[in-house]
Amino acid sequence: MPGGITTEVRTYQMYINGEWVASKTAKTFPVYDPSTEEVIAQVPDAGADDVNRAVAAAKAAFEEGPWATTTAQERGRVLFRLAEKIRANLPALAELECRNTGKPIVEAEFDIADAATCFEYYGGLATKVVGYVNPVPDNAMSLSLKEPVGVAGQIIPWNYPLLMAAWKLAPAIAAGCTCVLKPAEQTPLTALELAKYFTDCALPPGVVNVITGFGESCGAPLVQHPDVNKIAFTGSAAVGKIIVKQAADTVKRVTLELGGKSPNIVFADADFEAAIDGALFGVFINQGEVCSAGSRILVQKSIYKNFVEAMTEKAKKIKLGPPLERETKMGPLVSKEQYDRVNSYIEIGKKEAKLASGGGRPEKIAKGYYVQPTIFCDVTNSARIAREEIFGPVAAVIPFEDEKDALKIANDSPYGLAAAVWTRDIFKALRAVKALRAGIVWVNHMQPTYVEAPWGGYKQSGFGRELGPWGIEEYLETKQVYINLNEAPIGWY
Ligand code: ADP
Ligand code: MG
Repeated sequence: MPGGITTEVRTYQMYINGEWVASKTAKTFPVYDPSTEEVIAQVPDAGADDVNRAVAAAKAAFEEGPWATTTAQERGRVLFRLAEKIRANLPALAELECRNTGKPIVEAEFDIADAATCFEYYGGLATKVVGYVNPVPDNAMSLSLKEPVGVAGQIIPWNYPLLMAAWKLAPAIAAGCTCVLKPAEQTPLTALELAKYFTDCALPPGVVNVITGFGESCGAPLVQHPDVNKIAFTGSAAVGKIIVKQAADTVKRVTLELGGKSPNIVFADADFEAAIDGALFGVFINQGEVCSAGSRILVQKSIYKNFVEAMTEKAKKIKLGPPLERETKMGPLVSKEQYDRVNSYIEIGKKEAKLASGGGRPEKIAKGYYVQPTIFCDVTNSARIAREEIFGPVAAVIPFEDEKDALKIANDSPYGLAAAVWTRDIFKALRAVKALRAGIVWVNHMQPTYVEAPWGGYKQSGFGRELGPWGIEEYLETKQVYINLNEAPIGWY
């Protein structure tokens, strides 16, 4: 494979100022394959010194490097080249993503292609950033200019590693920013592979730096660094709250995409089979490690019993297995930590509600962090498994009486990332769309996400929007320019 992704344990370096480097302390940490529980790589354990180095490189590239005068067309071409490289290396990148996250290979391939699409989209958008002429009431010209925000610190999670890197890097590059990207400690490998393409794609040194490290020792100094102008974060709500506080001292711009406890509402008049499929897909895709997982399934009482039965039957047939096998629908969870966390919620669930299916390890699989697709029914919305994000294959099925009841339960959550509604009644669907307090509402589907459309949350699911024109806006400052057209003193004294 060109680019040389190997399967033996290897030690990676990280990418700062166009060079491959170790951490200042030379320390590394292991990266695992969660299906075998074996170490597949070692990566640098970056700390504050390394953050300083990376931020200095990004600042210099922003202020003095060739990037400062690169045209929007040129930035667009860099992004198109990156997309091409990703597509050319798709099988190897997908395999690496699959091995490192445990996600099924078919999903990994989809994600990698999606990452390429994101670079292509922002490649096109780079030349469409326009300013504005403000109609001021004077003999003057007032302009609004769009300018890059500067150095962006980007902290991403482990569930969609390369795709999340693309969501962050592509709009930043299009806008003319420079970046320090910190992948999640569990899954840094595809972002490091991506960095191998930068030189060939004519991305100047320092424009994108990729540093590998842990949240507190590497993420936190990045958030606090005075030369970082903006932090873009996707991750847990708990860490999101810490980041807002950490960013306060330097009054940084922050965008956050945090967790969710997204309701998937099934009305009695829905297409029954489609809703069953949608409920399973909505919560179990990517082993349920999805911020927009439809983890609260609200089902109307008149179909509730049949629905739970049918869903349970189908859930039992979902194929768990080695992520590299093409028939696999669910792989292991990403890490031991996540496995323990999800299992502890399953134990909580057993005390709060009725276990309808799953509830532990699949018997036949000896190794790996596998958890069965687990369905709890008769859940009340006040239960912990209905309020707290589990980030694993655990569904809470909640019965409801009527439309009013459904919408009330759906909105009764600290989160507001996503929601879905299944019905054949257009009026009911649109009333739900209006009433639901969420950044995205799907009607008769759940999970499709497109680079052309905005993505982000209401309430404690975060603020700011990614993707589409909204995504690039978060990397832009607005400068007002006032030009006096009178060639005379203003006559103040
Ligand atoms: P999870 O709990 O599922 O690992 P996190 O929100 O902890 O999710 O992780 C998302 C990203 O946030 C990762 O890249 C992680 O290293 C980073 N992170 C964790 N803690 C902090 C912190 N205190 N400051 C900055 N980044 C952090
Ligand atoms: Mg964490």
